[in-house]
Amino acid sequence: MRSADGDLNAYDLLQAVQNFTGTSCARRVQLERLASDTMYQFPFSIDGLERSRNQLASLERLDEEVHTSDGIELRLLGREIARAIEFANNPDNFDGVQILLSFEASQTQLELHLESSIEFFRSKGLDFERPEIFLVEELPAPFDRGSASVVTIDAEDEQRFEIKAGIYFTRHAITPIFADYTIAHELVHWVLGLRTPSLMATQFEEGVADFVALFGYVSEQYGELVSRNTALIHRLTSASGLVWENYVDASRATYLAVTRTGFSDLYAAIGRGREFLDVYRRSYARSVIATAAQAFVAPGQVLLDFPRNRVVSALAFEVANYVRPGRTVFEIAELGRMSRELAEVGIAELESAGYVTTRRDKIVIEYAPVTTYIEDGEFRYDFRRG
Ligand SMILES: [Zn+2]
Repeated sequence: MRSADGDLNAYDLLQAVQNFTGTSCARRVQLERLASDTMYQFPFSIDGLERSRNQLASLERLDEEVHTSDGIELRLLGREIARAIEFANNPDNFDGVQILLSFEASQTQLELHLESSIEFFRSKGLDFERPEIFLVEELPAPFDRGSASVVTIDAEDEQRFEIKAGIYFTRHAITPIFADYTIAHELVHWVLGLRTPSLMATQFEEGVADFVALFGYVSEQYGELVSRNTALIHRLTSASGLVWENYVDASRATYLAVTRTGFSDLYAAIGRGREFLDVYRRSYARSVIATAAQAFVAPGQVLLDFPRNRVVSALAFEVANYVRPGRTVFEIAELGRMSRELAEVGIAELESAGYVTTRRDKIVIEYAPVTTYIEDGEFRYDFRRG
């Protein structure tokens, strides 16, 4: 998220690194709320991350016993920053770190991403007129009323709303990886809008745009792991609502179709326009596919297998790292460096969600299926309240 003057800050860098490293933190809106006081004041640099971590360490003595959930959240944030610093200082990650640190929130940056997206689609057989891209303070009316931060205007919209055709980007949408991924997504609308401006984008089209941007473009540009992390962060574990759910459902439908047709038929359908995309949807995405194609295992795991109900509070997440059958609440509190009362609250949450069972006297853990989910990396925390 951009500060008022448009400069990137340490939080932007943390977010961007998470696209490379992954993160256990779901619903990043809440992470941002927690991080903003600390991280917005520091620059978009490794030094900025280090200063954020030091600031955090002075707020909360991170190695001592913690007595509140807030303390646990700060501890987890401190860990996220430490991981980002570790990533940035690892010479094996040099290329990725260079990509991130050379990023600027500028028109030039948008143009660069636009070029590489266009080149990607050309390599898939899609040739089209280049859109103009506009960096704006606010989206043009009537698109300024919703929560969107980017919009694509086609020839039909141009006439209807008297807005010049092209892709409009607000400042706060220009962050590393996200801006690049979003331009690839918007280009799918742009191409379809050139062929069929009279038809509106459907929900399926949103799924197609997301699928192609994430598992086509980002995967080719940054690697499969980054495409997986970006899908998890921006769609599957971000502040969710019906709108994002629809995008994800439509991406799943697209995935099913692609397991049957391969990517090339999908690109061909995009190139022919919206009515052809609809035929594609009805011919492939809706039909039940009996055998999942082996070639597309990675997107399938993210879109079909990621268990979205495995999101708990920061406290329960931290406690979950220490529960084992036979362990006492006292031992868990000691291992987790937290008060016994706090450990009890965390255990109670895990128990109410069926992740642990305690003995009748509540003092000893009897059964802890949560440990498998932690080990498999399927557990996430968020900073929910109440
Ligand atoms: Zn879209």
